[in-house]
Amino acid sequence: MRGNKTTGTILLVCSLAIAFIAGKEFKKMREPEPIIKGSGVTEVKMLSDYFSELKGTNADTEIYVMKGKEEGGSALVLGGTHGNEPSGIMSAVVLIENAQLEKGTLYVIPRTNNSGLTHNDPQEGSPQRFTIKTKNGERWFRYGSRATNPLDQWPDPDVYIHASSGQQLSGNETRNINRAYPGRPDGTTTEKAAYGIAELIRKDNIDMTVDLHEASPEYPVINAIVAHDKAMGIASTAVMNLEFENIAIGLEPSPVTLRGLTHRELGDFTNTYAILMETANPAQGRLRGKTDEALVLTGIDPTYVKAQKLGRLFVPYDENGHPLEERVGRHITSFLELVKSMGELEPEKEIVIENVPVIGDLMENGLGHYLNEAQK
Ligand SMILES: [Zn+2]
Repeated sequence: MRGNKTTGTILLVCSLAIAFIAGKEFKKMREPEPIIKGSGVTEVKMLSDYFSELKGTNADTEIYVMKGKEEGGSALVLGGTHGNEPSGIMSAVVLIENAQLEKGTLYVIPRTNNSGLTHNDPQEGSPQRFTIKTKNGERWFRYGSRATNPLDQWPDPDVYIHASSGQQLSGNETRNINRAYPGRPDGTTTEKAAYGIAELIRKDNIDMTVDLHEASPEYPVINAIVAHDKAMGIASTAVMNLEFENIAIGLEPSPVTLRGLTHRELGDFTNTYAILMETANPAQGRLRGKTDEALVLTGIDPTYVKAQKLGRLFVPYDENGHPLEERVGRHITSFLELVKSMGELEPEKEIVIENVPVIGDLMENGLGHYLNEAQK
């Protein structure tokens, strides 16, 4: 009896210690990475300024506004729709820390699903953060989840029914903000956040919205722009110009039957030109090996080299992988082309953005070169 009690006590102490350590790590994920805004940022707003119900919740998120000297069009960049797709978040950060607006207004949301960046996807073994070397030090950034944190929205139903269309998806998609648009003011936390984004677009009359994503190299829609029917003119002009710059990028029309996504619902329910872009991120792929910071940063994985040789991938892939600076470079260069196309086709919507690195700059100098230093 005595032995059993001692063993029991030891096991209890051990499990409490594990719970304490795991709980502490989990709580630490609530801390957002510091973003050091550049001089081009004229105002930092919150999503709750557009939909007050979000105030004080984990779904509220920062909106960086850069207003140009001259009036013009407006564009919104969504990074961090999915927390496990870092090129979107990092492209947003590079814009916030560098861009200077000569004309028009740029809105950037780095953590679109803020709650998704406060945890990791279960059983994926993803790192909680990654570090980038800058000119004089280093900066860290979150690697999060595709979905809202279950602490903010739980439990999932067996079947997720998209409110405005009745489309049925598996229950865990209930916490995927990119299946929740146009959102509902009285819906789940995720639907409320989506509604907040739609309200921002409606209230500030945003001309173009670009949602930045990544996908695994074996996913068919990759290195691609997906555009709402109304945005096809702008997107096809941009794709042509990108080809001249030797950036191969596919163009896909937003499928009418796939509901809840930015490129469908924001185009249908607001006046914005709704566009989504994808780069290749092996760290979220199903064929990947060890999932660590190095994989997030370099995109190098020998399994994907093999998969490419077997013809299983939808992007070129070799021993050099797809480093984060290349993926950020693709997003930023493509975004600038989209902005340019809009201004060419509709001169009253012209936006002039200066001081932003394009793919060649990022490949040459690295991502850290374009991140600001933390104030001492
Ligand atoms: Zn995504």
